[in-house]
Amino acid sequence: MDLEALYRDLHSHPELAFTEHRTAGIVAERLTDLGVDEVHTGIATTGVVGVLRNGDGPTVLLRADMDALPVREQTGLPWASTQTVTDEAGNAIPLMHACGHDIHITCLLGAVESLAASRSDWAGTLVALFQPAEEHGGGAQVMVDDDLYEKVPVPDVVLGQHVLPLPAGMVGAHPGPAMAAVDTMEVTLHGRGGHGSQPHTTVDPVVMAAATVMRLQTVVAREIAPHDTAVVTVGTLHAGTKNNIIAAEATLGISVRSFNEEVRQRVLEGVDRVIEAESQASGAPQAPDREWGERYPVTVNEPEAAERVNAAFAAEFGADNVFDPGALSGSEDVGNLATAAGAPLVYWMLGGADPEAVRRAVEAGTVDTDIPTNHSPYFAPLPQPTIDTGVRALVVAAREWLA
Ligand code: ZN
Ligand code: ZN
Repeated sequence: MDLEALYRDLHSHPELAFTEHRTAGIVAERLTDLGVDEVHTGIATTGVVGVLRNGDGPTVLLRADMDALPVREQTGLPWASTQTVTDEAGNAIPLMHACGHDIHITCLLGAVESLAASRSDWAGTLVALFQPAEEHGGGAQVMVDDDLYEKVPVPDVVLGQHVLPLPAGMVGAHPGPAMAAVDTMEVTLHGRGGHGSQPHTTVDPVVMAAATVMRLQTVVAREIAPHDTAVVTVGTLHAGTKNNIIAAEATLGISVRSFNEEVRQRVLEGVDRVIEAESQASGAPQAPDREWGERYPVTVNEPEAAERVNAAFAAEFGADNVFDPGALSGSEDVGNLATAAGAPLVYWMLGGADPEAVRRAVEAGTVDTDIPTNHSPYFAPLPQPTIDTGVRALVVAAREWLA
């Protein structure tokens, strides 16, 4: 399979959560071409799972996510996305594989190809799972709830990877809690609208929102112990339509990250308290409303399994190319696939940035500005050696279990 061509094609055709129809079609077609024993489609709308049965032995699940993001690509690459979708209001929403899920799909298909071609070298069952909606909508749990493990074999281990802007050619898993829990919510603050010239007749939700946003930043700074970590981000803030109108309400899109349940509860309580109290302080006519969005658990790499994978990587790539990424504040729902199966998880990070560019940026102290991160409109993993490394990493890790 020409994996680079496949990658460029996937990159040019990004699709949002639960609408990965073209992508899922390509995945199912390639799995069939590779001669896997079963191809299951339409799990959680667009999920695809290939099952390769190869005698008695453990069952290994390899996972890739498939969805893209509403980002206008600015990489200038020949294979950059120019795709858009139209939202309910008729606006054109630009689309981009800005999180590298196209790399994940490509690498997993490459790994299936490699394992399908070397059946005499291993035994067991390979489950190649292509998940919709990691960025939005919790596709992993939706697949589980769509009777995933009645349709495909229950794995003994769940493995996967995420590309990051670390030097291409490098891989590594952080044992233990590896990625943060995330709790997202949309909060509506209720005021009372009116004329901009007569603030005394209104309850201004813009001022209420501004005070809330600032005070929310004290929750982590003042209520969480210095040795613990958490993040509270207000990612969206909407209110009003015109300069001389005081709006009736404001909405805040908030995400909270944490690495353990105690801190998680403490931060969420603090966030609730601040929102309620600022609303009261403003004299709001109605208590604020909250609607939960994505809520993903802490991603925990089973320590023994993670060490086993790291040792296999060191043997494959050389110890210099294996790193410990530490615990990351990003979040993932891959853990739901492992929890539902009662299986250990190992989720490692795959370098995708130009090693030379990273070296220069580190030297100049400009990593933050010069090396685009995931979700940036400039995020552009180097196709090679990223894809080769990602394929080999999946195969080597799977082979740790596939006797
Ligand atoms: Zn992402
Ligand atoms: Zn991602």
